[in-house]
Amino acid sequence: MIRFDVSVLAKARPGASLTLNVDTGPQSLTDLELDFLRGTIRVVRVRGGLLVQGIVKSQLCLECVRCLESFVLPITLELEEIFRLPGAGLSPDVSYAVGDDGWFDLAPLLREHAWVAIPMKPLCHPGCKGLCPQCGANLNLESCTCESARIDPRLALLKDLL
Ligand SMILES: [Zn+2]
Ligand SMILES: [Zn+2]
Repeated sequence: MIRFDVSVLAKARPGASLTLNVDTGPQSLTDLELDFLRGTIRVVRVRGGLLVQGIVKSQLCLECVRCLESFVLPITLELEEIFRLPGAGLSPDVSYAVGDDGWFDLAPLLREHAWVAIPMKPLCHPGCKGLCPQCGANLNLESCTCESARIDPRLALLKDLL
């Protein structure tokens, strides 16, 4: 939970704003483990809600889909979202809301942005050579002597028959 008291803004006129500092250690956002969250967020009172804008930096540990090594991916989360205030007449498709107690939780918004920032097939680096399909050597670290790794698997099969 990354919660802030924004009750002052709930009572303020449109245009009033607050600056919030986000600076946390490791955070678990439901299904994501982030190493930290650091950034500055500006919260502006708008009609019916709060406009939340800011940039939060983070990083997380992922496993490369090619070489299966874990690596650290830095991510930058650019936030721009309206939070509904309790009792305000904003349309129901505004998906985030300030609690009745005047606090809001940034965790669901940060989690949503973090998911967008994570590639579907994470690579430790773009040129990752992956593992040798024959001996499993990490080809980023060593070269192996498996010749068949370099020929078409169908030819390899043929070679076995000869
Ligand atoms: Zn890799
Ligand atoms: Zn090999």
